[in-house]
Amino acid sequence: MLPFDLKTLIGRLRFFSHRWFGDDPSHRIHLLPGGMELLDLATRSPVFQIHWRGVKEIITFKLDAFGYDIIALGFRVFDEPEYCKVYEDYENWNELCDVLHDEFGFHWADCFPHVAYPAFAENRTTIWGTPWVPPCPQCGYDLRASGHICPECGRPVDPPALLPPANR
Ligand SMILES: [Zn+2]
Repeated sequence: MLPFDLKTLIGRLRFFSHRWFGDDPSHRIHLLPGGMELLDLATRSPVFQIHWRGVKEIITFKLDAFGYDIIALGFRVFDEPEYCKVYEDYENWNELCDVLHDEFGFHWADCFPHVAYPAFAENRTTIWGTPWVPPCPQCGYDLRASGHICPECGRPVDPPALLPPANR
């Protein structure tokens, strides 16, 4: 069995390898009336489809791709901590960023500095909607109905990272 860090490293190498060895985007963002679809260009199959009116939260974060950063958007459409993710090197990323203003009323240009700097930090930020409250990092307790302290172990609850209210 591989140590955890090595497994993580191999997973990241697989994820990023096509970005190093290929110039063409791996996926295409296909904007639809009222939503979007993500296509895997290698298999020509859809990865997911979302309707804008079903979106509950939009996050941004970035990945350290061994020497440069890749910025991502995540759309949460369920009451679960699952995000439909798109990355800035996908085809039509800029068109998607424009749609965010038309559909959700904020400018990607206002969000970009929050995720981009400092470099190589994940900087996960909720940029629209209701932030998902993650479980307690110490004991795993579901904190969605809790206040400032985990009722199970007493750890202070981390506030979600949000953009300033003017952007939301
Ligand atoms: Zn706890």
